[in-house]
Amino acid sequence: MAVNFCQQCGHAMEAKTIEGREVPTCPKCGFTAWRNPLVATMVVVETSGGIVLGRRAIEPGYGLWCLPGGFVNEDEAPQEAAARECQEEIAAQVDMGTLLGIYHITRGDGRGMIAIAYRATIHGDDSPSAGHEMLEVGLFAPDHLPELAFSSHRRAIADYIEVMGEAG
Ligand SMILES: [Zn+2]
Repeated sequence: MAVNFCQQCGHAMEAKTIEGREVPTCPKCGFTAWRNPLVATMVVVETSGGIVLGRRAIEPGYGLWCLPGGFVNEDEAPQEAAARECQEEIAAQVDMGTLLGIYHITRGDGRGMIAIAYRATIHGDDSPSAGHEMLEVGLFAPDHLPELAFSSHRRAIADYIEVMGEAG
């Protein structure tokens, strides 16, 4: 484990085994640096022409397609974060729908994530267009998708297809 320093008192942290996990802990003030997952959202925005995907203008996954979504800020409810990301990425106001699923994402040496997927529809006659993090937006049949940037988005869309199938 790399040496790092306590964010409360500056003392060198030490690895301590807590409930079977090694967790950096400060021997001086007792601060424990828990590594909790980051929380993100993704949104399946349904239109009569298909679901809305954006083609990414940023890394990771530059040039590939993805659902609108992103990280949740600590003062936001996940649904608010999801609606905000739709506004930013596909420049559309959405009406948030039901929860589609919750996905655990491991990222090699990166921090683990929990992604929450929702369904949504476009509000009024707003129509999606590319926000600044997107090269373009497109409407796709859920079973005929272009290459996606993230496997979690594939999993959410697969679950969406299943839910739609059950709905008949
Ligand atoms: Zn400390």
